[in-house]
Amino acid sequence: MTNDTTRIALITGASRGLGRSMAIALARKGVDVIGTYHSNTEEAAAVTATVEALGRKAAMLQLDTGDAASFPAFAERLQQALADGWERSHIDYLVNNAGIGVHASFAETTEDDFDRLMNIHLKGVFFLTQRLLPQIADGGRIVNLSSGLTRFSLPGYAAYAAMKGAVEVLSRYLAKELGPRGIAVNTIAPGAIETDFDGGAVRDNRQINDFISSVTALGRVGQPDDIGPAVASLLTEDNRWITAQRIEVSGGMFV
Ligand code: NAP
Repeated sequence: MTNDTTRIALITGASRGLGRSMAIALARKGVDVIGTYHSNTEEAAAVTATVEALGRKAAMLQLDTGDAASFPAFAERLQQALADGWERSHIDYLVNNAGIGVHASFAETTEDDFDRLMNIHLKGVFFLTQRLLPQIADGGRIVNLSSGLTRFSLPGYAAYAAMKGAVEVLSRYLAKELGPRGIAVNTIAPGAIETDFDGGAVRDNRQINDFISSVTALGRVGQPDDIGPAVASLLTEDNRWITAQRIEVSGGMFV
């Protein structure tokens, strides 16, 4: 049953990894979820089923966050999903999470790699958020995903980390410009987490996994469920006065 107190989160890239963990953690806190996926329809359907099993409503929409030209049509599909599923026209929370990893030294990064990272991690976040502004409720929240790699430098992530750094700056500007509508905007910067990201390197490469554990205060690499509940917690009423912040969730990497 939908009523005025129902809260709805739109999470991009909710089919796997961190986005999936966020969807489940938000559902556990009583929030309904509209997730997006890029190509993985089976994983997307599994997330819908998991959220529904937790007693919340869910919908999954296809979206390529690297294709800004597709955002007007996406906004229409979101409007339709909100009308069909909730008889509402607004989401309460937007989590810009979708992303890819490209590992290449500065010297070897191609223009194609750079453009792909820029389109998905920066241009996509900028123009998707802009397009969805009328569909975010006053008093709502936005969380953008960054990375520990903006604070410390590891060879191979120059282009990726530069885009994430830009998202952190963008988030502060959004916080300022959307503040009059009561919309809080923050950045969550995860450390290295065991997901499919970057070919699953953190999870599957023993050497990388051991190295990260050795430079992390809490002594291990991160798990998706170290991040999802942190995002869900940031979106509760308890944290309503936090805005324009970069919050690192890394278990203390390189401190
Ligand atoms: P992941 O496990 O590889 O999952 C990526 C998610 O993004 C999937 O849902 C995927 O959809 C979606 N996606 C990929 N390309 C897309 C595109 N072009 N358009 C729309 N959606 C797309 O990655 P993750 O580790 O959860 O990463 C999530 C976010 O956290 C990213 O922004 C990443 O940069 C950031 N992050 C990750 C780590 C880490 O160590 N894992 C650390 C710091 C920050 P499909 O399932 O359909 O492919």
